[in-house]
Amino acid sequence: MVSIEQVTHITFENTQYQLLINGAWQESESGGDYPVTNPATGEVLMFVPDGTARDTRAAIDAAATALPGWSVVPAVERANILRRVAALMLERREHLATVMTLEQGKPLTEARGEIAYAASFLSWFAGEAERIYGQIVPASRPNQRIFVLRQPVGVVALITPWNFPAAMLTRKLGPALAAGCTVIAKPAEQTPLSALELGQLFIEAGIPPGVVNIITCQNPLPFSDTVFADDRVRKISFTGSTEVGRLLIRKSADSVKRISLELGGNAPFIVFKDADLPAAVTGAIMTKFRNSGQTCICANRIFVQRDVYDQFAALFTQEVSKLKVGNGLEPGNVIGPLIDRAAHEKVQRHIDNALEHGAEVLLGGHPLPHSDNPSGTFWQPTVLSHVSSGMLISQEETFGPVAPLIPFDTEAEVIQQANSTPYGLAAYFYTRDVSRVFRVAEQLEFGIVGVNDALPSTAQAPFGGVKQSGLGREGGSFGIDEYLNVKYLSMGI
Ligand code: NAD
Repeated sequence: MVSIEQVTHITFENTQYQLLINGAWQESESGGDYPVTNPATGEVLMFVPDGTARDTRAAIDAAATALPGWSVVPAVERANILRRVAALMLERREHLATVMTLEQGKPLTEARGEIAYAASFLSWFAGEAERIYGQIVPASRPNQRIFVLRQPVGVVALITPWNFPAAMLTRKLGPALAAGCTVIAKPAEQTPLSALELGQLFIEAGIPPGVVNIITCQNPLPFSDTVFADDRVRKISFTGSTEVGRLLIRKSADSVKRISLELGGNAPFIVFKDADLPAAVTGAIMTKFRNSGQTCICANRIFVQRDVYDQFAALFTQEVSKLKVGNGLEPGNVIGPLIDRAAHEKVQRHIDNALEHGAEVLLGGHPLPHSDNPSGTFWQPTVLSHVSSGMLISQEETFGPVAPLIPFDTEAEVIQQANSTPYGLAAYFYTRDVSRVFRVAEQLEFGIVGVNDALPSTAQAPFGGVKQSGLGREGGSFGIDEYLNVKYLSMGI
């Protein structure tokens, strides 16, 4: 077994890779654990506790006990802790990025970028903690005064996915802690180590015991059933698939919990004939192939106006052919492995279905056995041409390094096709016509629209989807509202 210490030559004096409950690292009460594997090599990196319902209840107890104290800590002090954690993340960036690449597979350069991005949510929400303003509202009677307060929701449960193991967690922890909530977090079973590393930084930054609790587990159900059944947990914030999001909406009905959902997408990327084509090619590659295509906002359908279709396809294919595939720890590799065999098989299914229905391969189309892991999950970056809207690849998230090119003729036709999906997270388009910018942006039914911009995510902006891509917003000045209740006082004077 390769331990992280061996690979990174870093000694771990503090991080125990155990459950974090009430400020202390501990094993699961059952004594059970499960392996975390490196998707690039298939090797077991580490065993982490397989948390149970009883562990989850202990974490809820700790969070509920810590709540009254934490919610009255002055905002400026809560903000200082968040800023200290952000600073520690940047100080230990190389180590945290290496841990992330080992458990998730993304290239080290991307992992370093994610650590900085993840830290930015803590710094941004440190600022927001200091600006949780209320209102004084003009009343309808001369002897009445109305004051609006914004107060923390209470104990919140956070459930995060494996594709951004640090950023998806800090995008929730930042606003929750800034608002004065206490939390129980459950990272994805595939990538618990990055979350536990963050837990250690919170301890070092002086977070009081019980304010941040982390439960790792192989099966999410004992965790989620426990938090949904417990009235002390007032909110669930979830990032993951639409399928699981739907289940959680149903479960939240019984105890009427607040719920925020960041779910799947099926992003259109539209290239109009008046676009700056080299910029559109660069943008399409950035958004399609980042994290091997495993992002919720990655271009899933690339629409190109017929006048420039051949030119775009040639340039795009030429640039994609330069992307180097391999273990993310090796410099120069920009496409890592897919997270697991199920992800690998989905890519195969999408390519097979597209080819059966008339698409053509311009590049790739095959898995790539890698010397590190002959049975692994590396895919050759793939470009498919003449894809149409009836194919599986146009209808579902592929979550892999496959770019389907779809020709179109008119603006009205492409808007109709782009919107013809139950998802509404991100959309992109490239054009140099300023009137078209407004016409198209206003008609796209998506929460995030990149106009000549393929990297829209940033802590200052309200990230989130419409339709079946979710409920609520993360980031920006809207992000903290998800963790605040509104109360008003009506006073007779
Ligand atoms: P997933 O839904 O399978 O899992 C996400 C999390 O939910 C994990 O922690 C998992 O353990 C937990 N989970 C799974 N089943 C559960 C259940 N029945 N009850 C409670 N928790 C459960 O998704 P994934 O495969 O980890 O992530 C990929 C998906 O996440 C994609 O659809 C992607 O688009 C989406 N995603 C969305 C955003 C966004 O901001 N909108 C960001 C990243 C990923």
